[in-house]
Amino acid sequence: MTADLILQGGPVFGSDEADTLAVRCGRIVAVGRAAELLRLKGPKTVLIPLRGRPVLPGFFDAHTHFVRVGLERTFYVALGAARSLGEALDRLREAAQARPEGWIVGRGWDESLWPERRYLERADLDRAVPRQPCCAMRVDGHLLACNTLALARCPLPDGEFVDRDLGHLREEAAWELSRLARPDPDTLVDAVAAASRHAAALGVTAVADMAAPGDLAAYQMAARRGTLRTRVFLYLPIEDLPALKELGVIRGFGSPLLTIQGVKAFADGSIGARTAALDTPYRDGNGSGQLLTERATLARSWRQANEAGLQMAVHAIGDRAIGEVLAAAHAAGVSRLDRHRLEHLELPTPDQLDAAAGLGLVASMQPNFLQWSGPGRLYEERLGPERDAESDPYAWVLDRGIPLAFGSDGMPMGPLYGIGLVLDPPHPIQKLSLSEAIRAYTEGAARAAYAEGELGTIAPGKQADLVVLSGDPDHQPWRELEVDMAFLAGDRVYLREGAP
Ligand SMILES: [Zn+2]
Repeated sequence: MTADLILQGGPVFGSDEADTLAVRCGRIVAVGRAAELLRLKGPKTVLIPLRGRPVLPGFFDAHTHFVRVGLERTFYVALGAARSLGEALDRLREAAQARPEGWIVGRGWDESLWPERRYLERADLDRAVPRQPCCAMRVDGHLLACNTLALARCPLPDGEFVDRDLGHLREEAAWELSRLARPDPDTLVDAVAAASRHAAALGVTAVADMAAPGDLAAYQMAARRGTLRTRVFLYLPIEDLPALKELGVIRGFGSPLLTIQGVKAFADGSIGARTAALDTPYRDGNGSGQLLTERATLARSWRQANEAGLQMAVHAIGDRAIGEVLAAAHAAGVSRLDRHRLEHLELPTPDQLDAAAGLGLVASMQPNFLQWSGPGRLYEERLGPERDAESDPYAWVLDRGIPLAFGSDGMPMGPLYGIGLVLDPPHPIQKLSLSEAIRAYTEGAARAAYAEGELGTIAPGKQADLVVLSGDPDHQPWRELEVDMAFLAGDRVYLREGAP
C-alpha cells in the first residue's frame, strides 16, 4: 500500500538513523531510511523534501487558556507588548475611541517591564477610558485593574480580594467581573479559530486547555465549522464536577479533536499578584499570599473526581499551597496508579517533590515563566535571590523521575521560546538539555493528558501530528530557529511564508 505523504531527508526526532517518515490515513506508518521508505511512494503520494531540516512530534502545550489566546488576537486590547504604563493607557484609550460602546477589556499587562514599576490603578483607567466600563487583567490572570464604571458592577465588599481605592480585584473577584465583560458566543467561536491558526504557526498541534465557563460550546461550534485545527484536551472548572458526574462523563469523552479530560482547581494565586501562598512572606511586603481552596474541600473534590474517572489538575505555585495540595491528595487516597496533575509547581521544596513522586503526580510546568526569574527580575523582587534561585526547578523534577509536561499558560504561547529559556536559564536547577526540553513539550505533555498512545513521539501507529523546524539545532543556535511547517493528522495546517 502506498503512502499519502512522505517527509524525506532530515533528522527525525527520537531516532538515530531515520531520515524519512511515511503517513497514511492521518497516521505515521513507517519511520526509517529514504531508500526503504520511498518504496511506499505511489502516483498520489505527496513528497516533501526536508533538506536537512528536522521533523519533530507536534508540540503539545500542556497548559493553555486557548480561547483567551484567541481573544487576545481578536477582541482584547493586547497590553503585553506595552513598554510603559503610559503606553498601556494609550492602547486602551485608542480602543475606546475606536469602539465607543460596551466594555473595553485589556489583557496581559506586566508592570515588571515598565519604568513606572507599579500596577495599573483605577485613576489611570478613569483618565484613559472615562465613559465606558474598562478593566485590564495582569499577565498572570490573577489581578484585574478596573475603572470606576467597571468597579460599579462588582457586588463584593472591600476586603482581601477587593480594593476599590486602587480599583484592584484579585482571584475569584477578578474572574467574576471578567465573566461580565466576556464577549458574545460568536466572538468566542472566532477566537477558537484565531487561536488554532496561531497555534499551528507556533508548531503547537495539541493543547491541554484550562477552560473557562462557556468555552466548551465555542469549541464544539468551531469543530463543527472546521476552524478548530488543534487537538484540545479540556480541563473544565471544578464547579462543573457535579454536572460531569451527573452526566457520567469520564476522562477521554469526546472526539480525536476535542476531549474532556478532567477538572481544574486552584490552590493559590500567582507570584506576580502576590497571591501565591508562601511559607514565609513576600520580600516586598503584602503578607504571604492566599490559599484559595481549603484542604478538606480540595480532598473531597479530588476523591469525587477520581471515583468519577476524571483527571484532576490543581494549580499550586507557592510552597504552602503545594504542601496543602499534597496533603489533600494523600487524604483523597490518590495513589501511583492514578495520574493527576500539579499545575505550575513553581516553588516546591525537595521534600515536596519526593512526596509528589510518591503520589504519581505529573508536574505541568511552564519554561517561559523563566522570563521573570533572575537578577533584577520580578521573582527576585518578590521572593529574594535565594528563593528565586530555587524557583521552577525542572532539573529537580526530572531527577526524581516525576513526569514533566511543558506548557505556556499562554504567556505567551510558543514552545520555541520556552525551550530557549530552559537551555540558558538564570539558575542551574532550571536547566535542561534540548532533548529533555523537547520531550517535556511533546511526549511529557501527551502523557500528562493520557494521550501518549496516540501523540507525543514519531512512531508507526501514532497520529501524524508533526512539526518541521527551519534548521537543525545541532548546527544552528536554537534562538534562530523557526517553525517551517505543522501537520495535523497528516494535513499541513501551517507553512511559513518563504520556507523552502
Ligand atoms: Zn493557567
